Amino acid sequence: GVPEGGYSRVLLKLSGEAFAGGGALGVDPDVVQAIARQIAAVVRSGTQVAVVIGGGNFFRGAQLNERGMDRSRADYMGMLGTVMNCLALQDFCDRQGVETRVQTSISMGQVAEPYVPRRAIRHLEKGRVVIFGAGLGAPYFSTDTAAAQRALEIGCEVVLMAKGVDGVYDDDPRTNPDAKRFETLTHAEVLARGLKVADATAISLTQDNDLPIIVFNLLVEGNIARAVRGERIGTLVAS
Ligand code: UDP
Repeated sequence: GVPEGGYSRVLLKLSGEAFAGGGALGVDPDVVQAIARQIAAVVRSGTQVAVVIGGGNFFRGAQLNERGMDRSRADYMGMLGTVMNCLALQDFCDRQGVETRVQTSISMGQVAEPYVPRRAIRHLEKGRVVIFGAGLGAPYFSTDTAAAQRALEIGCEVVLMAKGVDGVYDDDPRTNPDAKRFETLTHAEVLARGLKVADATAISLTQDNDLPIIVFNLLVEGNIARAVRGERIGTLVAS
């Protein structure tokens, strides 16, 4: 269950697609600013926030691979794309007056710190937002899996999986008006039904380590704070 008074340390997973706003490619500053505002409100309320951002608004390795590129090289391009999203979010968090550090799994000392888990924890304890870039630094993984791994390693109580819809449905709610939203699911149900919460590697990692996931709509202002307070929004995946 949710700890009394809400969660104290959370991992927020943002998809790259969210950063593009209405566009297909790149970063929409208005969207990133709105996300930063939500994060700042949560940090001010005393909850520690770590963030993992995807890169789907730039490159997805699997898609480039289908078009003939070497998979690993394409995946590295995907990872590098996530870092641009991290820098955009860092900028808007700074503007909100929230101190922010970016840590990347691929070293790039001019723009970010390397991923050092203990240092990340120290930043969080000082009220800084820590943004993890470049996924796990390894091809064939996703940023969903990176979110699960980072949450486990730095001791987050929950993964907040931000989406453009308000939870997990039994069918696509945009095409099927009768699609039903799940209030709760177990990790095993997500895997068995093939529900699109995250890829199977991420779900099995959270299942094995008893880490809950909340899938919720990022586009409703204040929703990150609601999820952090333990309000029942979206879909809770827990075993
Ligand atoms: N990626 C990777 N290893 C990781 C994380 C990401 O190779 O640990 C690559 C992969 O090619 C992926 C891309 O980076 O397609 C962008 O990440 P993702 O698809 O998870 O972004 P999202 O769908 O959340 O925007």
